[in-house]
Amino acid sequence: MQNILFSHSYFLRFDPKQWKIGLPYPPLGTLYAAALMRENGYHVSLADSMFADGPNEIIAAVEKNIPEFFVLYDDGFNYLTKMCLTNMREAAFKIIRHAKEKGCIVIVSSSDSIDHYQEYLEQGADFILLGEAEITLLELINAISKNESSHLHIPGIVFLQDGAVVKTVRRNVLKDLDSLPLPAWDLIDIGPYRNSWIKNAGYFSINLATTRGCPFKCNWCAKPIYGNRYNSRSPENVVQEIKLLKEKFLFGHIWFCDDIFGLKPGWVRDFANCLEKENLEIKFKIQCRADLLLQENFISDLARAGCENIWMGAESGSQKILDAMDKGTTVEQIYISAQLLKKYNIKPSFFIQFGYPGETKEDIKKTIGMINDLLPYEIGISVSYPLPGTAFFENVKAELAQKANWTDSNELALMFKNIYQPAFYKQLHNYVHVNYRKHLALGFLKNIFLHPKKINIAGIKKALSFFYFIPLVLFEKIKMKQFEKLS
Ligand code: SF4
Repeated sequence: MQNILFSHSYFLRFDPKQWKIGLPYPPLGTLYAAALMRENGYHVSLADSMFADGPNEIIAAVEKNIPEFFVLYDDGFNYLTKMCLTNMREAAFKIIRHAKEKGCIVIVSSSDSIDHYQEYLEQGADFILLGEAEITLLELINAISKNESSHLHIPGIVFLQDGAVVKTVRRNVLKDLDSLPLPAWDLIDIGPYRNSWIKNAGYFSINLATTRGCPFKCNWCAKPIYGNRYNSRSPENVVQEIKLLKEKFLFGHIWFCDDIFGLKPGWVRDFANCLEKENLEIKFKIQCRADLLLQENFISDLARAGCENIWMGAESGSQKILDAMDKGTTVEQIYISAQLLKKYNIKPSFFIQFGYPGETKEDIKKTIGMINDLLPYEIGISVSYPLPGTAFFENVKAELAQKANWTDSNELALMFKNIYQPAFYKQLHNYVHVNYRKHLALGFLKNIFLHPKKINIAGIKKALSFFYFIPLVLFEKIKMKQFEKLS
């Protein structure tokens, strides 16, 4: 039986912001690929990079195992891997070089290797897998195991042949997602994940995917792994996985890491029915769009299934910017959907993006105003990040400096010329965060007067934090103004 050692290139330690937050999710995509290979007769193991000190730990696992195949397979479901951070790339390169030196056949599947396959091949990777990669990996390893001399018939791979880069035809996407085996959860040492979550959040959340892809066309969004399609697992198949996980791990929360959860008509209703039939109670968070969260029966089905937090790609409070992004949503939809979610006790959380080309001071003000008006449960602020393969990247390509990727997820550097200099956007991020917290505190303060009978210690503490945030907001605003003047 041939040995395959799986790993991935996301080192939590190399992403200081995420390390500090300490709420990591296991590499789900990697576990899917490992499960399929095991089902087909290969011996699989995993060297999980998540909590590793660095690439040397993975290299040590390669040296201990000396597997026939070393597969660096990133979790394409996790947005952190889509950022193509250079810290992770450098670690990946080091591991690839060593695995190659040890005689392994090195195969890589990641957003970054799709964007930079030439560099990965130069570092010693034998094959780069393009797009959704489980079936590609299986066909490739089967072909190599049978000593087939040519790999040109395998769709979705890139490799070197006589020094030239060869790219085979695109692979069709997998439509029947239920046909894949459930992720190889047994390969994960879940203890460190659990401990980290309990320590930092007070509960343990795990990740599941119910769909692949997203059919919308926001022009800055890169979808190198699962693409523009949309395919769903059946609600029964997802519920089966939840049941198995409940038997295996003690967890209190699920992150459904789909780009868009529940887009298929009736899916959420059937899912909620299925959970009820099985007497399963879960709490979960999802990602969705404002324009899909306007139907009351859809929201009530989400609440019935256990949804408690929805991250919405709100992006901007300016319609002009939403239109420039080809977002396909309106500011009004953001307002209506956020209010509707609150009615069903689902917390709306917003992804916000600053620095899109053409964004003026007035547009920034509108976004801040929208946050203050709607008081989302959480906000995630980023600056526009041109990723290869997107229309946005093509638009700003000429203005890109030498640097094209962030080092870690907190870098937030604006990498193209805009109205303001990059330091302004970094400071804007700080200002908007403290200003948002000030408004949340103000909300708690108002509640004390409006609903005095509902006062508790935690609420009083949050309300009093308003007075802490007043000078802090002022301080961050002054700093922001200084960067604005320098721009
Ligand atoms: S809806 Fe979300 S996943 Fe889909 S294209 Fe827009 S940003 Fe990307």
